[in-house]
Amino acid sequence: MTSAPVSGPPAAPVPRIGAVRAEGFRYERAPMIVYWETTIACPLACTHCRATAMPYAAPGQLTTDECLRLLDSMVGFGNPRPHVVFTGGDPLERSDLEQLVQRATDLGIGSSLAPAVAPGLTRERMLALKEAGIQTVSLSLDGSTAEKHDGLRGVPGTFDRTMEAIEMLNELDLPVQINTLITDTTHEDLPAVYDVLRKKKLLRWALFFLIATGRGSTMKEISAGEAERLMNWFYDLSRVAPFQVKTTEATHYRRVAMQRMEAEGHTPEEIASSNVARGFGIRDGNGICFINHKGDVFPSGFLPVKVGNVRETDLVTLYRENETFRALRDTSRLGGRCGECTFHDECGGSRSRAYAHTGDLLAEDPLCPHEPKAYAKRLANKAAREAAAREMAAT
Ligand code: SF4
Repeated sequence: MTSAPVSGPPAAPVPRIGAVRAEGFRYERAPMIVYWETTIACPLACTHCRATAMPYAAPGQLTTDECLRLLDSMVGFGNPRPHVVFTGGDPLERSDLEQLVQRATDLGIGSSLAPAVAPGLTRERMLALKEAGIQTVSLSLDGSTAEKHDGLRGVPGTFDRTMEAIEMLNELDLPVQINTLITDTTHEDLPAVYDVLRKKKLLRWALFFLIATGRGSTMKEISAGEAERLMNWFYDLSRVAPFQVKTTEATHYRRVAMQRMEAEGHTPEEIASSNVARGFGIRDGNGICFINHKGDVFPSGFLPVKVGNVRETDLVTLYRENETFRALRDTSRLGGRCGECTFHDECGGSRSRAYAHTGDLLAEDPLCPHEPKAYAKRLANKAAREAAAREMAAT
């Protein structure tokens, strides 16, 4: 990130605005998003694939009937229903995908699709899925040029096909989210990726901060300092970008955004009603869960701690009652700096990264450089200075 504008953290006090939730959601009762790896079949072989996908469906994949029953079971979460992201592998490799999407729609469950940019991504298929109820489609773009993107994906021609897919989805009026992987070799390319994206019609740009798992374990994460600089750049970008921005597995973007907004003079009410507040509290196992192609349930797709299987236990019961999920929802059990942090209700750190680095899913997130004790001291000093100034002015 050499060309990006950078701002340091402000010293101003950040208001406690509590655990704001997206409207109606209580994350101890229901997730906001269910990521569902419907298959690990995929024609691509991307370097960093979480699913370690293969060219064909793996034995034990949930059948159509089992998938329909799983969707039916989600009604047990009550209202508002969680949103389902059909992912993979390549979900388009499932010939029953339209049937699953239609069932979700009939049940009042919103859905999105995360397909591979592969031959199955056709206009006809996307039109059928739109008619079945798919609301948004996410595609990956990890580099600003064909050389960079295709090199990372490991499949020549993917960059050009991604550009074509964006146009095709625009024509179908299907909102597009672009996901971009952040690693120690890709992050300096981000301003150039933004230059490509800002000319496109997009709903959202999501930066995914690598967790070293699956095929991604051969790649390297950026440092905490680089992440802080990048997030400040991303915050600046959020003010001018022609689409929404978000981060994945980097919850402390919320802390950066709150500090920046407070320094800009925004009130707690304004922060609580801002776009960034929509994500407050959501993290692995709290507002999110992941189901793999065999029905195994995890707190996220990057946290390989299986809590059960939907063939044996209802998803609602697993999400609400499993001890791992309950622990992940209890910020008083967080360790290290995340445990001390005044932002942990809104942030809480990436539990997946904590686990990948330490084997402890409640440990601090090593990608965040925030020092809660030093921060608290700065706030106390500032408050003391302001009190002294007020006293002098009054005499
Ligand atoms: S210390 Fe933990 S809870 Fe606090 S901002 Fe950083 S990642 Fe979030």
